[in-house]
Amino acid sequence: LWQQISDRLKDEISVSRFDAWIRPVSATQNGQKLTIAVPSRFFMEGLKNSYAARIAELAAEVTGTDIDLSYQVDTSLATQGDPEPAMPDEADLLLVDGYIDPRFTFENFIVGSGNEFCHAAAQAVAEKPGAIYNPLYLYGGVGLGKTHLINAVANALISKNNYRIAYRTGERFTNELIQAIRNGSTDNFRNQYRQVDVLIIDDIQFIAGKDRTQEEFFHTFNALYEIKKQIILTSDRSPRDLTNLMERLRSRFNWGLVADIQPPDLETRLAILSSKAELAGVHMDRDVANLLATRITNNVRELEGALTRLTAHATLTGRTIDVTFARHVLRDLLHEEIRAISVEDIQKQIAAYYNINIREMSSSKRSRTVAFPRQVAMYACKELTTMSLPEIGARFGGKDHTTILYAVRKIAKMRDEDEDFDEEVSRIIAQLRR
Ligand code: ADP
Ligand code: MG
Repeated sequence: LWQQISDRLKDEISVSRFDAWIRPVSATQNGQKLTIAVPSRFFMEGLKNSYAARIAELAAEVTGTDIDLSYQVDTSLATQGDPEPAMPDEADLLLVDGYIDPRFTFENFIVGSGNEFCHAAAQAVAEKPGAIYNPLYLYGGVGLGKTHLINAVANALISKNNYRIAYRTGERFTNELIQAIRNGSTDNFRNQYRQVDVLIIDDIQFIAGKDRTQEEFFHTFNALYEIKKQIILTSDRSPRDLTNLMERLRSRFNWGLVADIQPPDLETRLAILSSKAELAGVHMDRDVANLLATRITNNVRELEGALTRLTAHATLTGRTIDVTFARHVLRDLLHEEIRAISVEDIQKQIAAYYNINIREMSSSKRSRTVAFPRQVAMYACKELTTMSLPEIGARFGGKDHTTILYAVRKIAKMRDEDEDFDEEVSRIIAQLRR
């Protein structure tokens, strides 16, 4: 069991930490009991502070049951050749950068509508941690890039300087606290969190409803805030919507900057896709990109998942990724309309709405009275059918796909900027769906 646990830890932590803290340890298992022997008292403190929570988790994961862990000093281990690790500073005990994902950087974060505000805030904080927006509180729906952004901040800080960063999920923070309470080491727990320059908690909503954790977090927050250390939080909800949160915490979450992240618009989704495709080294033609970006609209993770799945299928079957293939492989994701809406329906209804002749839908007249309704119809086709841009273009008198893309973007932008128009279009679309 210990072998399995330490193998897993080896993957998770740096070689030097592994050699310093895990390699010197031996363990004996007795049924549900795992006794971990360490070379010294000092070592035991360090190990408990940094790794006890993770070891307990891994033990439970590997065995599928709860394992009773205990620690004891065995001085013979100290003389077995491995020199005792050099006295680490407090921060080292904290496993500071343990959970930061090096793949999430500012460089590979695509900025666009929906995330530009959060992105700018995150960058500002990475520039001058503790100085301006404290705490920084990012919130928004799943898969929109919150975790990515806070890791980008952490990575930027790591590459810049020796910032001591504690990065945790709300869940892990809670588990560590529970473990510390169990081990009677809450003082250590407290101290280690107060030594950091930057405290990042992802998915802070997890602590809502957990009184003891909130209490502890409250004190940590105050201690760090007072000495101008940066605190960064993410959540799936705004502070106001976090029910079961202590009032004192809620008000503190609002002290700095609260920023919400929104789903990316079409253009940004296309940019994200093309960047991810490039990173993955796959070629995806424009039609496929458009199909995915128009159908998967409010979760970047799903968009990424679609790309991964397409790539895997294409690699395994040796087929090229075209629209038909993509539709087939991703049929569950693409939310195909149950009742197919025809282009004719769309054109007819929109022509009637704007009081123009349906023939104008396929004409090349550019006067605003016909060009505008035509663009709305093109937009509606993109929203309501599974057709690619060139396919739609063909149905509007053989127009180029760039013309359709232009229309789609223009109408989307107008909807963003003009609330009345937005409502008008959503009414038209709802009517077409019926
Ligand atoms: P959240 O924490 O908001 O649920 P994540 O940060 O985990 O979302 O993002 C989900 C996935 O989408 C990640 O793989 C992330 O890299 C990717 N992603 C989200 N937004 C962007 C973006 N603007 N540019 C590049 N990748 C993004
Ligand atoms: Mg997340």
